[in-house]
Amino acid sequence: MVNRIQSVKGMNDMLPAVTADWQHVERVLQSIAQQYNYQEIRTPILEKTSLFVQSIGEQTDIVEKEMFAFEDAGGEHVCMRPENTAGVVRAGVQHGLFHNAQARLWYMGPMFRRERPQKGRYRQFYQFGMEAIGWPDATVDAELILIGERVWSTLGVEDVHLYLNTLGSDASRDAYRQALVNYLQQHMNDLDADSQRRLQKNPLRILDSKDESTQAILADGPKINDYLEQADAEHFAQLTSLLDVAGVSYTIDASLVRGLDYYTSTVFEWKTGSLGTQSAVCGGGRYDNLVEHHGGKPTPAIGFAVGMERLVELLQAEKKLNVPAVLDAYIISLDAQASASAQKLAEQCRDNNLMVALGHGQAKLKAQLKKADQSGADVAIIIGEEELSKGQGQIKYLRDQQDSQWLPLEEISGVLQAQCVRQERL
Ligand code: ATP
Ligand code: MG
Repeated sequence: MVNRIQSVKGMNDMLPAVTADWQHVERVLQSIAQQYNYQEIRTPILEKTSLFVQSIGEQTDIVEKEMFAFEDAGGEHVCMRPENTAGVVRAGVQHGLFHNAQARLWYMGPMFRRERPQKGRYRQFYQFGMEAIGWPDATVDAELILIGERVWSTLGVEDVHLYLNTLGSDASRDAYRQALVNYLQQHMNDLDADSQRRLQKNPLRILDSKDESTQAILADGPKINDYLEQADAEHFAQLTSLLDVAGVSYTIDASLVRGLDYYTSTVFEWKTGSLGTQSAVCGGGRYDNLVEHHGGKPTPAIGFAVGMERLVELLQAEKKLNVPAVLDAYIISLDAQASASAQKLAEQCRDNNLMVALGHGQAKLKAQLKKADQSGADVAIIIGEEELSKGQGQIKYLRDQQDSQWLPLEEISGVLQAQCVRQERL
């Protein structure tokens, strides 16, 4: 018996029924990136495992549980990228992109995390990310948030809200970390097991705990806001006032720390109420130490990543995706002789920038018209024995009541093109 091989768990095929929606979303993201003068960077999917361990941090969910990491046949420890800020920073340092220079970059592609698959959470998923590297200014933080806002408004997303926090600089975070450890030590026995384990090595991670009793303890604990150095507090205040001026609404969430260790200063997340538990559509923040950590000069930086599946699911939930079918004509030939003329006509139409499907084979007219209708084409062009004897083709309008039209074959592509220009379809 033939064994039908299925896809790997948590990794999805994207079938033609949805790729048009994805392409639409991708085009919007890319054109907005271009409007803000960000340039694309493409880095490998496979990186050295140490890259992620060093950037994301050993005591994080990603590194502890979620990486697709393995030893290759040559004994090299490699990993399918779980995120792409580390790869972008690695590439930038390796090629000197940040050397006395600033960079506005974007990327799009698959990421891999071995999580429990469920709605909005997959083992291969796509991210669109932007990174602004080399600017310390709060205006850059605001720029990235305004980009997010523009993406939502251009796509028509309604249910999405911004949550903001600051983790401060190293000094602020050290002082806060100490206060948090002192406080949590008094409640050690009531913390969940993960949090107990993280108390010494990575206490800030505990703020992110999903455990209710841990969250209840944290509610009465110290808040980062009370430990910020003056410069950190000023940076954050400048950012919120820029957002106020721009009319972006936000909620300050003192427990927002994000799941990766490299974040410093500003962190943010865009969340929706329309997708159930997997509510974060986009996450980002500053990572002012990461470039230096990878061997570059000290370089401030900030970025975000959008979860593309969640964004597409949100757009579907809000019924914002009905990308129209784009096919101008479906050409039907009824006998072998007509098929050569049909193919020639199809090529003439494509010379005129039209989108055309050719109905291969000579099935009965009725069956071919059904396929033409299903294709979403505006018109069917029929070439049979009678048409051919007159050197003509018959244009049948599939989407409106207009009568069929017989035209000389060499005139058809010009007439169709003129009609499409009128409809602003080209
Ligand atoms: P979550 O808290 O939902 O696990 P995260 O904090 O791990 O998210 P980030 O590392 O910030 O996520 O990645 C940015 C975005 O990528 C998320 O906001 C989300 O939209 C998306 N994302 C993250 N993990 C997955 C996944 N396993 N499947 C689909 N999308 C994901
Ligand atoms: Mg996660």
